[in-house]
Amino acid sequence: MIAWDGPSGSVLPVVTAPSTVLSTVGDEVDPADPAVVQLAADLVATMKVSPGCVGLAAPQVGVGAQVFAVDVTGHPKAATTHGVFVLCNAKIIEASRWKAGREGCMSVPDLTGDVKRAGRIVVAATLPGSGEEVTVTTDAFEARALQHEIDHCAGKLFLDRVAGAHAIYQRKVYL
Ligand SMILES: [Zn+2]
Repeated sequence: MIAWDGPSGSVLPVVTAPSTVLSTVGDEVDPADPAVVQLAADLVATMKVSPGCVGLAAPQVGVGAQVFAVDVTGHPKAATTHGVFVLCNAKIIEASRWKAGREGCMSVPDLTGDVKRAGRIVVAATLPGSGEEVTVTTDAFEARALQHEIDHCAGKLFLDRVAGAHAIYQRKVYL
């Protein structure tokens, strides 16, 4: 089980582009460090109070670290779902079924874009707190969310992945 069952966290302000931390490669973390567990809890708390938010990475709350939270539960484009979880030092070890799809981001509030992502991935990571090493196999929208958050931890935004200006859209509706 990778589901988050850590302490409750605090809601943090979300930083928006252009902010240096969003384009900086995050540091690898010690998943057992109490500060990392607190960060994980804060990411979950901030994600939960943000309508339509399916994932949030440490750089988005101003921390240059390889930690992120994901929750695509109930999303219409989701197939496999693992509920609310937080991963540290995540790396994609397998990726296939590449397909374009629309993405948005709390750190880029006014735009969405079409981004090509793998529709099936295997990710290796560690869990905050226990430090347990896990591999997560997922697909569809959860796979997209994971790739988006892993990009944040590497200092990349979805805007760095769009095919060009024709694949960027002004957001009309705020979820
Ligand atoms: Zn984002």
